[in-house]
Amino acid sequence: MADNREKTTDQMKTWKENRGSLKPDVLTTASGNPIGDKLNLLTAGPRGPLLVQDVVFTDEMAHFDRERIPERVVHAKGAGAFGYFEVTHDITRYCKAKVFEHIGKTTPIAVRFSTVAGESGSADTVRDPRGFAVKFYTDEGNWDLTGNNTPIFFIKDAMLFPSFIHTQKRNPQTHMKDPDMVWDFWSLRPETLHQVTFLFSDRGLPDGYRHMNGYGSHTFKLINADGQPVYCKFHYKTDQGIKNMSVEEAERQASTNPDYAIGDLFNAIANGNYPSWTFYIQVMTFEQAERYPFNPFDLTKVWSHKEYPLIPVGKLVLNRNPANYFAEVEQLAFDPSSMPPGIEPSPDKMLQGRLFAYPDTHRHRLGANYLHIPVNCPYRARVANYQRDGPMCMFDNQGGAPNYYPNSFSAPENEPRALESRFKVSPDVARYNTDDEDNVTQVRNFYTQVLNEDERQRLCQNLAGSLKAAQLFIQKRMVETLKAVHPDYANRVQTLLNKYNAEAPKNANVRVYSRPGASAVAASSKM
Ligand code: NDP
Repeated sequence: MADNREKTTDQMKTWKENRGSLKPDVLTTASGNPIGDKLNLLTAGPRGPLLVQDVVFTDEMAHFDRERIPERVVHAKGAGAFGYFEVTHDITRYCKAKVFEHIGKTTPIAVRFSTVAGESGSADTVRDPRGFAVKFYTDEGNWDLTGNNTPIFFIKDAMLFPSFIHTQKRNPQTHMKDPDMVWDFWSLRPETLHQVTFLFSDRGLPDGYRHMNGYGSHTFKLINADGQPVYCKFHYKTDQGIKNMSVEEAERQASTNPDYAIGDLFNAIANGNYPSWTFYIQVMTFEQAERYPFNPFDLTKVWSHKEYPLIPVGKLVLNRNPANYFAEVEQLAFDPSSMPPGIEPSPDKMLQGRLFAYPDTHRHRLGANYLHIPVNCPYRARVANYQRDGPMCMFDNQGGAPNYYPNSFSAPENEPRALESRFKVSPDVARYNTDDEDNVTQVRNFYTQVLNEDERQRLCQNLAGSLKAAQLFIQKRMVETLKAVHPDYANRVQTLLNKYNAEAPKNANVRVYSRPGASAVAASSKM
């Protein structure tokens, strides 16, 4: 056998070696009854039929029939690993959370990386944001920072989330990815421009999961021991250095090694090459938030590094691969509403929407007791509450402790330390339109000041290379929105589109939709 095989390829061999000289266990059914023959069905005669009393067969087949749980609607394809967070700098002046208690304190973590739009069998090296979710198993319960590899997102109002995701998934009739759906939505909603520009820049194709930054993305609130709040953003910068893939390399990996990023992470950790990220915060006072020219709770915007510098806090280190993918990664469930005392939500409308949506989806996907699953269980805190029963209750269901509150029989009590900070809210209740806010200044800064000439050219090529597949009226509308960012951005994309459209077959932009009772409708440049 070749000596240079990767750790992923050698997993079975490694498992056997680590098992040592222990005798293999006796085969059993799920109820632990020893099995005499696991190769042959129990049949009446050598040619069958099969007997219903072959419980060795039905026990396994019935479980096999139920192996799949619903795939995550987004972030279905991913990799996970475990490790720790270590505090290297004191931030107790901002935050009383025990995870930041003192320099040198370590807290176990679980991390899941993912792509967003593809199914669980899709390729890792596609142009897509990457999920970067961190679960801290803190002394005061779990803290889940459910972020991405970008500090921003496409939309800022959670009302649009299901529609936005539908545009990234499959066409309702063809079951294919649909460039019209994607670009129609983006060109109709200019707040997506910032993230779209990031997506088509070089960082839209990160080289695996180890060479990209992570961001909590949302604005959060930190509360110190005196009850003083500040707003905060979280950044985790890769210690491996940023590394991206060329379009050609990404396509090559997608066709030959679609699990590239999963393998890269697993092999690095198995080889003792533990990836790490330096963890920072940005802090903004309530007074500064009032004066900030942008809405500081808008998920499509960043906070300027110059005005709100990164403050170092600690390190995230990944040093253990999952022992079992399904148990520890497929069932790993992140929930931004899991926050220990000292960390609270800001008014960010996307965060507020996710506080509901994430635990809601886990209850559907994993069941009402998903927090009993070992990888999700807040094992460093003792759970004491009044929730009882439900499917797959895995512990003692809190024994004979009272299941109602208040009660007179010594049950868990409130913890004053955990009382949420008070804040004022006085505006009128309404559905506020936010798409007409300044959606271009930060994109312009990125285009003109952060990207160099080569990066700008690649951005325009990548963007036009995707936009060309949408209908002409959508292309036109998108170029108009780019004009507002910078005429150079729009001109370059338009020039490339002109070239692509001239090269394309005559009806390349025609989409034909047939509906029952209606004649086929052809829509293209006539619109
Ligand atoms: P800075 O010059 O201080 O920050 C620019 C940041 O851009 C860098 O620190 C880096 O963030 C990130 N960056 C650098 N190259 C690329 C790239 N090729 N693709 C994506 N991101 C890159 O200026 P400001 O803070 O004033 O921000 C200017 C613009 O930079 C913003 O409008 C925004 O578009 C973009 N940006 C800002 C970030 C922020 O949090 N302030 C973060 C990321 C981008 P990092 O070190 O996090 O990788």
